[in-house]
Amino acid sequence: MLVKADLHIHSSFSDGRAGPLEILYTAREHGLQVVSITDHDTFTGSIHAKRYMENTGVLVIPGVEVRSEHGDILLYCEREIDFPRRVDALIEKAHSENCLIVPAHPFDTLRLGIGDLVFEYRDWDAIEVWNASATRGANKKAIEAARILGKPGLANSDAHIPGEIGAAFNVIEVSDLKIEAIFESIRKGLTRPVYGKPPFKTRIDRVIWSIEKLFR
Ligand SMILES: [Zn+2]
Repeated sequence: MLVKADLHIHSSFSDGRAGPLEILYTAREHGLQVVSITDHDTFTGSIHAKRYMENTGVLVIPGVEVRSEHGDILLYCEREIDFPRRVDALIEKAHSENCLIVPAHPFDTLRLGIGDLVFEYRDWDAIEVWNASATRGANKKAIEAARILGKPGLANSDAHIPGEIGAAFNVIEVSDLKIEAIFESIRKGLTRPVYGKPPFKTRIDRVIWSIEKLFR
């Protein structure tokens, strides 16, 4: 079966606007069957979201956006784990725990991508080749990096407000709607990134919300 997955979303457990329940309902409205809430340095948002899986019918993959020593890296696991900040240790830990490790928006300097180090640490399960919040130039470089490294590419929204959810997503071919099966499909590259940007009005909402946040 084919499922649609947005694997980079922020909740109110870090710097996102919506709580986990609103995120899952919005994901369902946008036709997604799978999400990962990847708050900065905490699995808490995605762990909370798991409570609402049954009500919403959306599968939640526990995730976190780790601020490593060199920049942001997405970590997806079946359950919450401790994560080191050193990139080599983080990659090793991810693989020993059967998790997926994916550099987030690697060439977006504003968003702390790890840049050319993506070529130095090669043991990624996939590369985030399209981040709906990053610049086109940064995304283009990431697409090229994934091609050079021969890694699967993921496309995600990096949503911070609900309207952005599903602006970019992945169509994944899975044998079963289970986390392990999804991980296996991503590792094998049975995934197609769908590039997109949020609608203009949503982008304005995001800017307004970011400014409001500064004054809170
Ligand atoms: Zn992010």
